[in-house]
Amino acid sequence: MRLIILGPPGAGKGTQADFIVKKYKIPHISTGDILRENIKDETDLGKKAKDYMDKGSLVPDELVIALVQERITREDCKEGFLLDGFPRTTAQAVALDAELRKLGISLDRAINIMVDPELLIERAVGRRVCKTCGATYHVTFNPPEEEGKCDIDHTTLIQRDDDTEETVKNRIQVYTNQTSPLIDYYKAQGLLLNVNGAQEIDAVFNDIVAGLEQ
Ligand code: ADP
Ligand code: ADP
Repeated sequence: MRLIILGPPGAGKGTQADFIVKKYKIPHISTGDILRENIKDETDLGKKAKDYMDKGSLVPDELVIALVQERITREDCKEGFLLDGFPRTTAQAVALDAELRKLGISLDRAINIMVDPELLIERAVGRRVCKTCGATYHVTFNPPEEEGKCDIDHTTLIQRDDDTEETVKNRIQVYTNQTSPLIDYYKAQGLLLNVNGAQEIDAVFNDIVAGLEQ
């Protein structure tokens, strides 16, 4: 299964992606996670991406496109993949289509998690993540068993640098301007699966699975 997951910042893409990849046994490719990893490791890509990410702007298309082109040709993507946070611009979507065509494969669905803007800020500002394993929690909506500690490996949870109210507002604006046109792009290809993201985490996942298996 070859999937992409769309939605504004804080919609629950990463949370749902974790469930989807477990069920369908495909790799979870999050461009945000890969970029943060590169910043931590102080790679060239990380150095180029950092300022954009800190401000909540998009990293230039050519950098993320190259990253995804390389990633989806790896062995573990043979049976499929889930792209989370990519594509985010029309140029990225067109480049992805071209790359897939070259590889003789195509996308199965584009999952679109819909959440009203007023819920997004609270979700993103309350997000806490594990630096070790990448697990995501929410201080109110999805708290860990022990406050501030990852359920899986007990690492102290952190808040992402870009999860401040001001940066989240900018990211929502960037999403509206640059990424939301992709909803129509994938609708025109007959790939769009709209899901109501303003429900409990389990209910959102049930709707995704029902839609994928229709
Ligand atoms: P969220 O899940 O909250 O939307 P991400 O982890 O996907 O956040 O992305 C965090 C930041 O990483 C973005 O604000 C942007 O700066 C950068 N980024 C991630 N994916 C892309 C992409 N496909 N194109 C450009 N920038 C990206
Ligand atoms: P995205 O990858 O789209 O930016 P995340 O999956 O990281 O979003 O979720 C953002 C925050 O909202 C996290 O703290 C997460 O635990 C929480 N969250 C995710 N889905 C839901 C939901 N359905 N209801 C309430 N909170 C949620």
